[in-house]
Amino acid sequence: MLDVDFFRRWLTNAAAAVDREAARLTELDSPIGDADHGGNLRRGLSAVVAALEKEAPATVGGVLTLAGRELISAVGGASGPLYGTLLRRTGKALGDAVEVDEAAFAAALRTGVDAVAALGGAAPGDKTMLDALVPGVDALGTSFDAALAAARQGAVATVPLRARKGRASYLGERSVGHQDPGATSSALLFEALAQTAQGTPGAGRA
Ligand code: ADP
Ligand code: MG
Repeated sequence: MLDVDFFRRWLTNAAAAVDREAARLTELDSPIGDADHGGNLRRGLSAVVAALEKEAPATVGGVLTLAGRELISAVGGASGPLYGTLLRRTGKALGDAVEVDEAAFAAALRTGVDAVAALGGAAPGDKTMLDALVPGVDALGTSFDAALAAARQGAVATVPLRARKGRASYLGERSVGHQDPGATSSALLFEALAQTAQGTPGAGRA
């Protein structure tokens, strides 16, 4: 079972992964964006970690909705409302539970990913975070490690795509040949998830 501590550790691990990779995320956001993705997410996730320490929500839904709210208010870029919606809607789907099984989490995360697609009007193949989020959540039914591998593969597969949504789409054909920063940070969320599951006995399958 995945409890409140599991989700807190996930977000703390995600903050550490983004911290480590912030320069790379910003570098990816340079040729096809405005070079702020690493800074945006780092600011957002450190606000999430601080809020979790201060408020200590008692339910898994509470942890994720608080995290989503912090991302929306702390991140100015497009990714703030999108990632904020991902976590808020996933949290809402989990309701008042103090622990959930992997299947319930996978179903809730699917609701969150669907909400990101609805908010941004994007679909897989548009060269956005959805190119990692959708394959990642699809593979979550197999294992956390399978989800990580699928999300990473999805991020790399954005390189030859032409962006159809977000700032990168203004470049048209010139967006081809670059990996999408948001798909890359989404793979980091799955990396943090797999890392958290490794430290959780019995959380190998989802
Ligand atoms: P901004 O584009 O406002 O500078 P960021 O640099 O933080 O925001 O985030 C850019 C990332 O957001 C992109 O790489 C892409 O993955 C994601 N993104 C942008 N627009 C959309 C959208 N409409 N739907 C899904 N993801 C999007
Ligand atoms: Mg940007």
